[in-house]
Amino acid sequence: MTDLPVLTHWIDGAAGAGASTRTAPVYNPATGAVQRLVSLASAADVDTVVASAQAAYPSWRDASIAKRQGVMFTFRELLNARKGELADILTNEHGKVTSDALGEIARGLEVVEFALGLPHLSKGEFSENVSTGVDVYTLRQPLGVVGIISPFNFPAMVPLWFLPLAIAAGNCVVLKPSEKDPSAANWLAALLTEAGLPDGVFNVVHGDKEAVDALLVNPDVQAISFVGSTPIAKYIYETAAHHGKRVQALGGAKNHMLVLPDADLDLAADAAVNAGFGSAGERCMAISVIVAVEPVADELIAKIAERVKGLKVGDGMRGCDMGPLITEAHRDKVAGYIDIAHADGAEVVIDGRGIEVDGEASGFWLGPTLFDKVSLDSAVYTDEIFGPVLSVVRVASYTDGVAVINASKYGNGTAIFTNDGGAARRFQHEVQVGMVGINVPIPVPVAYHSFGGWKDSLFGDAKAYGPAGISFYTREKAVTARWLDPSHGGINLGFPQNT
Ligand code: NAD
Repeated sequence: MTDLPVLTHWIDGAAGAGASTRTAPVYNPATGAVQRLVSLASAADVDTVVASAQAAYPSWRDASIAKRQGVMFTFRELLNARKGELADILTNEHGKVTSDALGEIARGLEVVEFALGLPHLSKGEFSENVSTGVDVYTLRQPLGVVGIISPFNFPAMVPLWFLPLAIAAGNCVVLKPSEKDPSAANWLAALLTEAGLPDGVFNVVHGDKEAVDALLVNPDVQAISFVGSTPIAKYIYETAAHHGKRVQALGGAKNHMLVLPDADLDLAADAAVNAGFGSAGERCMAISVIVAVEPVADELIAKIAERVKGLKVGDGMRGCDMGPLITEAHRDKVAGYIDIAHADGAEVVIDGRGIEVDGEASGFWLGPTLFDKVSLDSAVYTDEIFGPVLSVVRVASYTDGVAVINASKYGNGTAIFTNDGGAARRFQHEVQVGMVGINVPIPVPVAYHSFGGWKDSLFGDAKAYGPAGISFYTREKAVTARWLDPSHGGINLGFPQNT
């Protein structure tokens, strides 16, 4: 392993090694081979990176809106022109197929485009003459250095949910990406530098818990945006808040798709396959449970099974439908749920083990897997599996279906499939979930609406991007001003009555 290239941090506008000599392997999940190592920062390395961001902050904060927008506009143009390069990096380290990688980048680009509207969207308010000769107005100012901690499953899109708004608003950023697929972060950093971003405004520090913990306690870090699994999201929220930081921590999910008897079952089956097995189920908005209102289950399952037979699983570079899982350990864990399903009395309709793939045998493969009659107390139902595994839960009525969804501890996304507008409207009102699809299986809001779940899927009260993102990365200041004129009233020790 010693001859392998080492991906280092990005600090002060250039790649730079820290003092720590710890590294982690970065695999190509389609071959199982280690292709490079990534540096794992020590706490002291993190402090050095934060200091670089802090040093860059005053001049970036004071840069004109026109200057900041100019950089963001150039970044948008470069990213759009060179997205193919980034897609290859994503497929190479994450395993997702090329079309999916390009989709991830497109959703990130949307946020960059939204950030171009920030000068208008972050304008303050002005009230003239609140008292005689007195005006009140609000300013929105940046926070300082902000930290972004991102998961493995969207190495480009999740950083792009946050960094465009943070930077356009005048903050400096330290990104700690997942150590499993870290190269996209450095590629984005180099592109921002090429776009004209001053050195130190955007930095990348690679690492594991040690790096994250150092970010959480560093007094110069004003805010943390985290995306990852629920236990870590909760830990991040509690620790960062304890250290006085503004924090948004998006967690895990178990997303249900409710299929009513009047639904178009072909549309529902297509949606279930796309949303269940796209990106090998490694999406926080993947559908993992189909709640089938009888009598639709048998027919729906048959239609899903028929579609799964046509899926080509293999190396994402070879035009397949579904790629490998992120690591061997994760693949084994996900495959383990097939034994749990058997043991807990579910019907294993499709077993994804031993599938034929278009790729190296040593890749981290698991084919699409489908369970029926899954019981609500089985770990197959209660755990976030995060793999290509769809469970069907059969219920007798709409009411029973909503009760199942609302009893889940997660509340990220959900969808209803029906042709009944009244039922859909009732569902959107009653369901205890942050993002709802009506005949749309993965209802990720566009960049000008905010993204975030309820319950254990989001800790803190700030969703990602959209209006919530602008508010998260700025703080409001209210100014009350009086310019004395000859008519001012002289001495008066009473509290102003605003007459
Ligand atoms: P993860 O929680 O293991 O890791 C996320 C980040 O936290 C990584 O940067 C990692 O290095 C760091 N980390 C891991 N363990 C840590 C610890 N003990 N202390 C401090 N930091 C730690 O998540 P993952 O496996 O990379 O990503 C998959 C998870 O992310 C899934 O649960 C998925 O649902 C969730 N996710 C949620 C959303 C959302 O918007 N709600 C979006 C994408 C992914």
